[in-house]
Amino acid sequence: MHTILVINCGSSSIKYEVYRMPDRESIGKGLIERIGQDMGHICQKRPDGKVYDSNAPMPDHKAAMEHLKSALIDGEAGLISSMAEIHGVGHRVVHGGEEYSTSVTIDDKVIAAIEKNIELAPLHNPANLIGIREAMNQLPDCTQVAVFDTAFHQTLSPAAYLYGLPREFYDKYRIRRYGFHGTSHRYVSGEAIKLMKRHPSNTNVISCHLGNGASITAIANGKSMDTSMGFTPLEGVVMGTRSGDIDPQILFYLMERGFSKEDLNRILNKESGMLGLSGISNDMRDIEEAAASGNKQCREALDVYAYRIRKYIGAFAANMVRTDILVFTGGIGENSVKMRERICHRLESLGIILDDERNRENGNRQGVISADYSKTAICVVPTNEELQIARDTYEIIDGM
Ligand code: AMP
Repeated sequence: MHTILVINCGSSSIKYEVYRMPDRESIGKGLIERIGQDMGHICQKRPDGKVYDSNAPMPDHKAAMEHLKSALIDGEAGLISSMAEIHGVGHRVVHGGEEYSTSVTIDDKVIAAIEKNIELAPLHNPANLIGIREAMNQLPDCTQVAVFDTAFHQTLSPAAYLYGLPREFYDKYRIRRYGFHGTSHRYVSGEAIKLMKRHPSNTNVISCHLGNGASITAIANGKSMDTSMGFTPLEGVVMGTRSGDIDPQILFYLMERGFSKEDLNRILNKESGMLGLSGISNDMRDIEEAAASGNKQCREALDVYAYRIRKYIGAFAANMVRTDILVFTGGIGENSVKMRERICHRLESLGIILDDERNRENGNRQGVISADYSKTAICVVPTNEELQIARDTYEIIDGM
């Protein structure tokens, strides 16, 4: 049995989970928040309900990692008895550029590639790197593995990843579709294929990751062939606060009317999407509730949301010989019975037929929600990126 620590390091937070592999057993997880502020907070939970909760100064990630270690081996609510139990650390890394199409053992070359890709993911890769460096310093005997959000989409063909821009923009500035949420799409498509008792090599899947960030991916025979997020996570469907696809000319139009580059960046990423459309919230539950009590703007926001997703499903279905499985995941995809209904109710023409009762009954569990006569099976699969990272890390260690 191997013990794997999974780390998702952000600029002011660290999410972590410990797995026993290959049993896929989570033995606990935690969240450290407010790193860099006067008082940080760590909360760790075990499956048996034991909680480690502490407020402590965490001026930087080094201090946060020290607290993480103390929580892991705490006598009362710890997850392991000593750090020597950990065999490997799996790190979520947002951008692997064109360098990585699979997860890899971290060495100097991998660190240099993550550094090079900071220009493509300036908000995420620096924090991911801090987590890697701290884990390497504090757990020097463990194998450290990088699992990239972009890696799964490296199988896209030039037809899917090139934009209609001068070719030199790709050659010189590396502007292309990279896609994100790759670890989630890989995990849920794999689980859906198992659920339908099929084999990846002859199954086509359209995977809808609908959370606060959202993306749709077409997966043919186990390989990502197209995805809605692009050069950055801003492209694609309408999200919680991100606009998704818009006419780029709108930006110049607004700049001529006094909006700065910084204004537009903020508006498109943080003030648009469902928040901007509904005018009340980025949270799907609030919008569905307001729409149900007659708020017209919220009803329209829900219509835009479902319509844009259907557009992508249709476009991806048109580029695959057939669609065997449509899978929903993410906070909205897993939980919103109504949104799944809204999205699916016009997909009948593609042979994608929802069973309303199964959809309602299934709620938020893993399961099949299509009608028996539907050509495409519709599934709900709760995403588990941490488990996928633990699996990748375990496979690398096991193969050494
Ligand atoms: P995530 O980013 O995957 O955590 O997803 C967050 C989104 O899931 C938010 O918009 C939530 O409103 C939404 N969500 C969570 N639970 C529900 C639910 N029961 N019904 C509708 N939306 C939900």
